[in-house]
Amino acid sequence: MILVLESKISQKQKDKIKNRLSDEGCIIREIMDAGRNLIGIIGKPEKSLDELKQMDGVADAVPIKTSHKLVSREFKSEDTRVKIGNVVVGGDRIVIVAGPCAVESHDQAMSIAKEVKKYGAVLFRGGAYKPRSSPYSFQGLEEEGLKILADVREKTGLGVVTEITSPSQADLMMKYVDVVQVGARNMQNFELLKCVGRMEKPVVLKRGLASTIQEWLMSAEYIMAGGNNNVILCERGIRTFEPYTRNTLDLSAIPVLKKLTHLPIIIDPSHATGIREKVSPMARAAVAAGADALMIEVHNNPDKALSDGPQSLYPEQFGQLVRDIYVIAPVVGKQLDFDYLKKSEIINNIKDENSKTAAFIGEYGAYSHKASLGYFGEEITPCPMKTFKDIFQAVQTGICQYGVIPLENSLSGSIHENFDLLQEYDLKIIGEITIRVKHALIAHENVLKKDIKKILAPPPAFSQCKNYLDQYPEIELVPVKATSSAVRQVKDSNDKHTAAIGSTMAAGIFKMNILQESIEDNPRNYTRFAIIAKEIKGHKKVDKTSIIFSTGNKPGALFEVMKVFSEHKINLVKLESRPMLGKPWEYMFYADLEADIKAPELAPAMEKLIEKSENFRIIGRY
Ligand code: PEP
Ligand code: MN
Repeated sequence: MILVLESKISQKQKDKIKNRLSDEGCIIREIMDAGRNLIGIIGKPEKSLDELKQMDGVADAVPIKTSHKLVSREFKSEDTRVKIGNVVVGGDRIVIVAGPCAVESHDQAMSIAKEVKKYGAVLFRGGAYKPRSSPYSFQGLEEEGLKILADVREKTGLGVVTEITSPSQADLMMKYVDVVQVGARNMQNFELLKCVGRMEKPVVLKRGLASTIQEWLMSAEYIMAGGNNNVILCERGIRTFEPYTRNTLDLSAIPVLKKLTHLPIIIDPSHATGIREKVSPMARAAVAAGADALMIEVHNNPDKALSDGPQSLYPEQFGQLVRDIYVIAPVVGKQLDFDYLKKSEIINNIKDENSKTAAFIGEYGAYSHKASLGYFGEEITPCPMKTFKDIFQAVQTGICQYGVIPLENSLSGSIHENFDLLQEYDLKIIGEITIRVKHALIAHENVLKKDIKKILAPPPAFSQCKNYLDQYPEIELVPVKATSSAVRQVKDSNDKHTAAIGSTMAAGIFKMNILQESIEDNPRNYTRFAIIAKEIKGHKKVDKTSIIFSTGNKPGALFEVMKVFSEHKINLVKLESRPMLGKPWEYMFYADLEADIKAPELAPAMEKLIEKSENFRIIGRY
């Protein structure tokens, strides 16, 4: 049962309710969900549902109908995010866990860890206690293996995941690792589940070899009932009649689970397929199906691996897979972030908590809000602003550490105002993120499409949905500042004849109904955002440089600059000309180069660029 508490409930009233229920033998869990304060009650309280509703400070009481309670969406509608050091599983950023099946030696673990980290893994896996089918197979290095894992974390900064096979290992696990894994063979080892429920470590709970989703969720319930909310569900293939692959990867479990539970999902295509060449296709499909994370077995010498060599990827194959995931993730609204760990480190080093903010345009639910979450995760608080200039101002004055500004859209083109502001302010581009823009037509509950007389949206959204809107010439199009404001205005107006164009995220935030999804003309609708800050902090590999320059007003002046790029084989990926402020018919150029212009080998190029242009300025290296 769920008690929805009144927002003005006092702590005293809350304690009274909680104490009474736990005296009656109920399990009590208090959470915040979608802005509501809830108490979950597991067990049979003495009071009836109606009596509970009458208690002081209680707004409502709702039964949970499913047999899984704490893990259910009914109890908690928002996705759970499991935090492992600086890494968050669940949310907009795809998490990659990789490493060998088993820790075999210090050298083996360390060299694989370095490789997988280089290619984009943010957590390292490796078994120290191996549950093998045969008692004669390698059983793992046990405590020695855990010590090696701890050293891998120390040297690489990667959090480590390992399997716990018995409650007697709990103290060692607490000491050495960041995440414990309950293996497929132990999914219904209830003493082990109770044990990890008591441990203060995130848990990866693998699906049993022949377990239903319902049984799996009940096992997760054991862990949560024990007091541990940090559970990640791992689908690793189930036994079917099909012998070609080691198991059958049940990818349909992803959408099923997304509906039933708030817990994040990790997919292990290695144990699912058992065959190296089948791992990457299934990993790509898993991300397309909505997985939050992947767990991949990687070995530097699979032929000699002490376990699961045939399903282990070579490090380079793993690198290729991660690159593919990087491309696929935005299609389903997620991101793979190659700078994940570096970025988190920089963010964690920001001393002033209040300035851990990123200014974005519009209101919550705006695509810029999504871009901020995709780039920073939730460590940085998105901070809504009314205008682009306000964003620049907030960053310049230090009110916000970062700004998130859209620069161009694949359908509607450049956002010129931001190029002008980049010229005007002395701020730096420290990164970029591209997100897919999937527009929905959003209105109040029970409104039909034929009722709509007016649609609110910003002009670029109208132009991105032109073909769709052209079908309804009688509908009035009302321009507003941002998609998120459009959704909020429709919500506030309570007008059943007005709809808004916006993101499904905005529809969720404002609790509005989606009349139609994906109304943009072309599904390849992407917006590229730049992340701006006062200065570039930390050292990271630079792939791109953004520059601003002007040229003298003489024949061939721009050509002279372009020639430098050509001579030094620098790929120009964007060139935008903007009128110079206060100088009619004179232009400033903004360019993105696929190179680190400050790299020593490009020093001659840089020298020539300064010579051939006027007002040459580097505004970002990222
Ligand atoms: C493993 O992850 O190495 C493992 C033994 O997995 P599973 O429990 O899925 O077989
Ligand atoms: Mn394995």
